Amino acid sequence: MKSEKNLYNKLFSHIYVEEEALKYQNTTEILSKLKYRNVILINSMKELTLRRNQDYKVQKKSPNLILAVRKSDFLTPGEDICNSFNEQNFYYSFPIYNCIYDCSYCYLQGISNTAHIIIFVNLSDYFEEIKKITHDNIYISISNNTDLMPLENITGYILKWYNFLKKHPEITVEIRTKSTSSEIFNKISPINNMKFVWSLSPSEVIKEYELRTPSLENRIRAINKALSMGFSVRLCFEPILVFKGWCKIYKNFFEDIKSRIELQKIEKISLGVFRISKDYFKKLKKQDLNKEIFYANLIETQDTLTYEKSILDKIEEFKEILLKNNFS
Ligand code: SF4
Repeated sequence: MKSEKNLYNKLFSHIYVEEEALKYQNTTEILSKLKYRNVILINSMKELTLRRNQDYKVQKKSPNLILAVRKSDFLTPGEDICNSFNEQNFYYSFPIYNCIYDCSYCYLQGISNTAHIIIFVNLSDYFEEIKKITHDNIYISISNNTDLMPLENITGYILKWYNFLKKHPEITVEIRTKSTSSEIFNKISPINNMKFVWSLSPSEVIKEYELRTPSLENRIRAINKALSMGFSVRLCFEPILVFKGWCKIYKNFFEDIKSRIELQKIEKISLGVFRISKDYFKKLKKQDLNKEIFYANLIETQDTLTYEKSILDKIEEFKEILLKNNFS
């Protein structure tokens, strides 16, 4: 991918702005960075997001951008199904909703009717709410219902979180990404309470199931750049997917990762298989009936679907490959 900036300039078909959002500086800044002549004012984003009979897949190809004001739920407690790196007091915060990438397994397709990208411009309200949390330490994933990094050129949100975190060492934030846009690393310095978590998959998976995302090659380059500059980097190999030949492909992939990333410098690593709530899965499969991953043998545990035990055992073998000689 040559430039993620070009990608989103081409992606957004229209820009809608809630009238209330006009009074926020973030709105002015974001609009000044996009070269759209037609900005449409709306009363509420619900005029677009709650429309009946929306076609998620069609929207995904050419989503609108919506600038909105979030009124509540600035911070949400993490659920057990989520990967938290075993952090205590784990929360989510969603300053942006929906994503410019298009992963077949993305659970957003299961929970949402709309693929439009919604940027909440009242980031200052998020910060005020988060400051009210009384735990000694909290860990917040802020890039979960989106990928913040490829949108950084227009939002500057990672920089704003960084400035907030510098004054609040008791709050740790993770930014989960598949992006290779690394300009942000020239604007900030490493701090211990800002973690960058790259999601990695074999090239075969990226090509088939992670549309519009950067190549594995470029992700590894971005990771090595962040490491060489001293940033806190974690790696997430999730979801590991089952398809014809998956085992060999993943085994080679983990061997390759081990030889190309200095794993001793990686703060934490997590591996996890595809798992999803039963209801979300139905919607997900309907979006793309041709994808092989939706026909693997999934078993039900409570309300969640995941792979059978023999597959989970394989994941343990992959962990061995990665962790051997690198972590004690
Ligand atoms: S990068 Fe994450 S949020 Fe974006 S489409 Fe893929 S799975 Fe969904």
